[in-house]
Amino acid sequence: MEEFFHVHTRRCKHGSEETDEILVKKAISLGAKSITFTDHVPFPENPFGNRMDFEELEEYLDSFENLKKLYATQIDIKIGFEVEYLPKYLDYFWFLKNHPKVDLLICGQHMAQYEDTFTCFLESEKKNEIEHRLCIEAMIEGIKSGLFDVVAHPDRCFKRQKEWSEELTELSKRLFSASSEYGVPLEINISSYTKPKKNVFRKDFWLLLEEFNKTAKKKVQTVFALDSHSTEEMESRYNVKVKI
Ligand SMILES: [Zn+2]
Ligand SMILES: [Zn+2]
Repeated sequence: MEEFFHVHTRRCKHGSEETDEILVKKAISLGAKSITFTDHVPFPENPFGNRMDFEELEEYLDSFENLKKLYATQIDIKIGFEVEYLPKYLDYFWFLKNHPKVDLLICGQHMAQYEDTFTCFLESEKKNEIEHRLCIEAMIEGIKSGLFDVVAHPDRCFKRQKEWSEELTELSKRLFSASSEYGVPLEINISSYTKPKKNVFRKDFWLLLEEFNKTAKKKVQTVFALDSHSTEEMESRYNVKVKI
């Protein structure tokens, strides 16, 4: 692939410590024409882990603003965030969307808002029961909000559901309808695809989508994503051919 989509940086606290410039240079050396950075979005007061601190937000944007100019003749750099759609933070998301240095937001639902808290703070039994449904509903609301260019790894929210079920079919179809109606593509995540034991890439989901698209007035679009957190992952994933 020549479009390196959904790339994380050292700020996320669960990847390599390589600098932004090293990531850009690696993409160029692998023949990428474009690279889209969508690091995990920080939130004011840092309530969630596994992401940059809120205080790093401007530095992240400035760093890539600078690299865009430096490497303009070699690669098209885009900069954005992977964002959990949480209604509590809607004003903040619009601030990001309208920020002059932000090119795009992608919806990456690792948790969802639940009553006055978030599913990441619930005990696992409760999570197993409700998280996938809340995440799909959040993705649908996210699509309708107009904030997002892509929905990241939509099938990953089913990871706690061992067996495919009628419920998952119904939820998936609702997501396809929203994606089709609003023209927001769904991401085929190569990181998920390369980890079969984690139950994060759901063949049933993608087979259902093929069925959906056969009769849809407007087909659901898909994009491939590296979801890399190091140059090593970039290199091992950019040539993977996904078979559904
Ligand atoms: Zn990550
Ligand atoms: Zn993600």
